[in-house]
Amino acid sequence: MLSNVSDIKELIISTLGSHCSLQVLKGAKDEGFKTLLICEKNRANLYKRFHFIDEIYFMDTFADLSSKEIQNELIAKRILLIPHGTLISNLKLDELENINIPIFGNKWILRWEADRVLKQKLMKDSNFNIPQQINNKNEIKNLCIVKLHGAAGGKGYFLAWNEQSFDEGCQKLIDQKVIKSEKELYIQEYVVGVPIFLQFFYSPLKDEVELLGIDRRYESDIDGIGRIPSNIQINLNLEPSYNVIGNFPLVLRESLLQEVFSMAENFAKKTKELVAPGIPGPFCLEGVYDKNGKFVIFEFSARIVAGTNLFTNGSPYADLLYDEPMSMGRRISREIKEAIKSNRLDKIIT
Ligand code: AMP
Repeated sequence: MLSNVSDIKELIISTLGSHCSLQVLKGAKDEGFKTLLICEKNRANLYKRFHFIDEIYFMDTFADLSSKEIQNELIAKRILLIPHGTLISNLKLDELENINIPIFGNKWILRWEADRVLKQKLMKDSNFNIPQQINNKNEIKNLCIVKLHGAAGGKGYFLAWNEQSFDEGCQKLIDQKVIKSEKELYIQEYVVGVPIFLQFFYSPLKDEVELLGIDRRYESDIDGIGRIPSNIQINLNLEPSYNVIGNFPLVLRESLLQEVFSMAENFAKKTKELVAPGIPGPFCLEGVYDKNGKFVIFEFSARIVAGTNLFTNGSPYADLLYDEPMSMGRRISREIKEAIKSNRLDKIIT
């Protein structure tokens, strides 16, 4: 539908008002595009402050995006939608795959991000070191992290070290109506070390992976528990949670970078084989470096992550590649611009 575009003025870069929308639209504006924000009415007061947003399209809730009528209105405006975590968490996967609005990147790969079985396959086939998966609660022998399916930003995760602690954590989630049964949970070996999030951009136009930033997350309340002395912690019977509140910038020891690129290149190659057209655009490899410098990858995100918001003005890694501030949001729009110029928009849109 957007394949006849020959000038950047013929389409509008758009995203949902949440997650990393400010950075994405600022980047689009810096590249010369018009921008449109899809916004829930209750957030108008936040988003109207930013002058790089040319138009705001209001809806009651993001779930309204599944309506064909609303999709047609947005298509008529000639938007190209940049997907992020909020799109994934507000639409069902079928709705997302059936959406008629042109989407930047590969919308089919979002199922591989959300579905633990597919995710596991892609990570194994990419030759990643991955944490052991525990198939049954009675096989829990060491410290484990218990997760929910989907992009929940670490909400509802808990630690378990035997069947009883699993059952207790699970019951709490059922009582809080977060889940209906333990079948919705996924048990993984807990990897001891430091969590690191590697932010990449794969360009199908150049057939190249770029490392554009690295971060770690600031999670509540796991990152706050260490502020309470251990004797007090014991009496409080605290339960750690992993709700992402913010992010810190990071650089890695340079000697680790060689492997960082080979992991990302393997991943980009495997995605092409398993879920065409692969991974045009941003993705993130998320894991823990252990004390021997081994990276164990527990997740990937097959789209832009919010940790890239740190680098609206470029990161130390982006700075090595570009002589101008290059955020992930801007990099997306740069790729779209290049694709329009070389008549290859079909390579980066699904
Ligand atoms: P996720 O939503 O899967 O990215 O995970 C949320 C947080 O849980 C991460 O930022 C880590 O702090 C932690 N985490 C997830 N998986 C593991 C693991 N296998 N071992 C240790 N920590 C983990």
